[in-house]
Amino acid sequence: MKYKKTLYLKFILAYLAFGLTGFVLISTLFYRLTFDDLVREKAAALYKEATLISTRYADSIYYETLEADDVRDQLEAIDTLTQSVIWIVNTDGELLYSSSDSGADEEKTQVIENFNPTDAGNNYYMIGSFYGSFDDDVLSVLSPINSDFRIKGYVVLHYYLKGITETTESIMNTYYLALGILFLLSLLVLVVFTVVVYRPLRKITKATEEYADGNLTHTIEIDKDDEIGHLAASLNYMASELSKGEDNQKQFIANVSHDFRSPLTSIKGYIEAMEDGTIPPEMSGKYLKIVLNETERLTKLTNSLLQLNNLNTRGMHLDITDFDINAVIKDTAASFEGTCRAKRIRFKLVLCGEKLFVTADMGRIQQVLYNLIDNAIKFSDTNSQIKLETSEKNDTVFVSVKDSGIGIPKESQKLIFDRFYKTDLSRGKDKKGTGLGLAITKEIINAHHENINVISTVGVGTEFIFTLPRSRIEEEI
Ligand code: ATP
Ligand code: MG
Repeated sequence: MKYKKTLYLKFILAYLAFGLTGFVLISTLFYRLTFDDLVREKAAALYKEATLISTRYADSIYYETLEADDVRDQLEAIDTLTQSVIWIVNTDGELLYSSSDSGADEEKTQVIENFNPTDAGNNYYMIGSFYGSFDDDVLSVLSPINSDFRIKGYVVLHYYLKGITETTESIMNTYYLALGILFLLSLLVLVVFTVVVYRPLRKITKATEEYADGNLTHTIEIDKDDEIGHLAASLNYMASELSKGEDNQKQFIANVSHDFRSPLTSIKGYIEAMEDGTIPPEMSGKYLKIVLNETERLTKLTNSLLQLNNLNTRGMHLDITDFDINAVIKDTAASFEGTCRAKRIRFKLVLCGEKLFVTADMGRIQQVLYNLIDNAIKFSDTNSQIKLETSEKNDTVFVSVKDSGIGIPKESQKLIFDRFYKTDLSRGKDKKGTGLGLAITKEIINAHHENINVISTVGVGTEFIFTLPRSRIEEEI
């Protein structure tokens, strides 16, 4: 994809821009600054010399003899020392002395046209050809020669700018070298960035594309303990959770389809057999009953599914009241009287106190009890007992439904609350069960933020215990 390239490209471009900006800055601003600095420095040094000359030699220049050899010699020494040309000019611009043409024709006086010492302005120096006197640019420093409180002339020191330019350039070379080293070093940053950030990021991007394409089995192989490592780990986790969810969904649909198909197939089979006479009319009563049973099973399945769906999608709405759980247990048990009589099953009620008030949704709790008692009866042998018990501890009420039936194998105990789960043991006992009863029960208990647990031993029996919050209401009554 396009963006993969751009991030890296952007970084490279930024890197090049950094190098280029550095180069441009050095070659313009830095050059300017260094050059100006050197000029100022040089000018200051020359000015010192010029002042020295103007104070020390001024009188000898004017009142004695300018041609005095010792003065000349000394000026020449200064000339070589400062590598500059020394001029002495009077206020009219007449060149009285020049150190550069000391051997030349001394009779001929040179006049500097347009000479105006105020041109130097506030600075005591100027840059240029000095009124056309030089072919190359020079730095000229002026120092007035005072005598009797009047300016008699000027000492002018000229320094060829070429010298400063050369120094500046050699300093510039150092800058360029430093920049080059910095540039190479930052290349290292680029390499580190590539290895530490860019490559893992590309792996992650690729993985997200895979996920988007539905390939949730793809894993990101980044084994690092930094932010990127964590990101990769989170994405891996997300993908595995998503694929689990997907598996559950498929499983769920397979189960639903299966549960619908078997009763439908048997209904279809019996009705066809009746229609084409395979089942004689006198026998149809028996088979119609089977068909009716299967239809009931379908209805029950549909209702349970609808209920589960409602519980899940809307979040359960609970109609919380205070009610006597003992009474609800008695009522629910009574509703199973017919079934119990047929199987010769007895209820043993061990209820805590006369009345035991809890705070919950009465209708839903009734449903929970109904599901648990229904299971207990279904998976118990004839002629057995089911114990219904309530107890209370620290404001929590425990409700227990205990049978002495077939029991649940240890490995199944975690699974019985899953939708459609039925143990192999139970299949022979109950063909009508949908495996949704406990799933609904669990949802209801969870919605109350309470707990449900199972204790079971195969061949001995099963006990389901769930909790409810105790109500304080009975104390007020
Ligand atoms: P339905 O409740 O929709 O009629 P069901 O009873 O099979 O179907 P659940 O109530 O969810 O479904 O129970 C799931 C499974 O757990 C049962 O099929 C059974 O295998 C096992 N089970 C539940 N209660 C008991 C019990 N008291 N004794 C033994 N096994 C049980
Ligand atoms: Mg059940």
